[in-house]
Amino acid sequence: HGRVVVVGGGLAATRLCAVLRRKKFRGSITVLSAEEVAPYDRPPLSKQVLAGERDDAPLPFDTAKLDVDLRLGTRATGLDTESRTVMVNAGSDEADAIAYDALAIATGAAPLRLPGDGPQLTLRTLDDSLALRERLVPGARVVVVGASWIGAEVATAARAAGCVVSCVEFGAEPLAGVLGDEVGAATRAWWEGIDLRTSTGVTSVEADGVHLDDGTVLPADVVVTGIGVRPDLAWLSGSGLELDRGVLTDTRCRTNVPGVVALGDVAQRWSAHSDSHRLVEHWDEAAMVATAAATSLLDWSTGPEHDPVPYFWSDQFGRKLQYVGVHAPDDVLAIDKAEDGSLLRATWSRDGVLTAWLGVDLSKELIPARTAIGGPVAALG
Ligand code: FAD
Repeated sequence: HGRVVVVGGGLAATRLCAVLRRKKFRGSITVLSAEEVAPYDRPPLSKQVLAGERDDAPLPFDTAKLDVDLRLGTRATGLDTESRTVMVNAGSDEADAIAYDALAIATGAAPLRLPGDGPQLTLRTLDDSLALRERLVPGARVVVVGASWIGAEVATAARAAGCVVSCVEFGAEPLAGVLGDEVGAATRAWWEGIDLRTSTGVTSVEADGVHLDDGTVLPADVVVTGIGVRPDLAWLSGSGLELDRGVLTDTRCRTNVPGVVALGDVAQRWSAHSDSHRLVEHWDEAAMVATAAATSLLDWSTGPEHDPVPYFWSDQFGRKLQYVGVHAPDDVLAIDKAEDGSLLRATWSRDGVLTAWLGVDLSKELIPARTAIGGPVAALG
């Protein structure tokens, strides 16, 4: 039976525990979570919680029923894969060493920050969301850095709260980093009433405001930095695990060290769709990957692979965007516009084969699109 230790207390970790028990694993499961609160879901943090529609988003995780020893406030600070030991809370009175037979790393990722000593908020935790919400009051000057998913969702909430909103984006268009300039440009109209400054970099955040690379200083009451996330891998250095930007795994979540899996935002998983190891920082990945990870923990040698067509969504400016697939920058792009001239649908293809689909308030097309990917473009409605 043995002892499974799961590091991280988010979506991937909770799903993994549930699948282990469903698969009749009867050994002990210990979950080490750096957070002080029970596991919760993150997408609502930049949507319903920020909008004041709800105050939390607990994940279903019945520790009694699952017979899981959940240790909150417990941060993994080192890993010795030879002696199979996780060090926690090093340098404090709570320092401890926890032995395992099998280990799952599901520590997610942490927001990147900009240089400078001025106050800047990021949005990753429930506390982050509640702290930001408190500051989104009518008339507050809010500068959002980054016009990608988090930036667009924060700008949505700030505008709705009556704030004076600016957004600074390094790329030429909103969402351009993922969707490309042409598709991004078709979302520009949604930013009405927001001072959107594209092709502009931020040099630093200082006490007097946000310093831009064109010399402008944007005064701000609130600065929200949404420029991406990185897994924190510092505690894994010297562990013998192969690390790149994330923990490298195969399609069964296996790292190079037998008995150690990684899953969710922290994992840089092999993907046949992109022919590379990819960080897939989406809810769907963290939610669905548990079966492969659990199977590998229980039987290292065989099991199902996890390499689905990637899917993610974003709710912004009163719209639901859904994207499925993987496109390359040189894929053939077709854009359909809504009556107001803004983005309705985008499809990407290569050699006549559909590679990716993006819809705006087109949920009904999602499943057909997902089915059609990898087949002829014509197969899509
Ligand atoms: P996480 O949810 O980050 O959980 C990791 C946990 O591990 C955290 O609790 C962390 O505190 C803990 N931890 C970290 N280091 C340690 C350590 N050393 N020791 C112990 N514990 C540690 N995706 C979408 O597809 N659509 C969306 O609309 C969407 N919206 C989002 C909105 C927000 C505000 C955020 C932050 C993310 C959003 N995502 C969205 C992404 C999605 O939430 C993540 O992909 C998902 O949460 C990843 O789950 P995870 O379990 O891998 O990591």
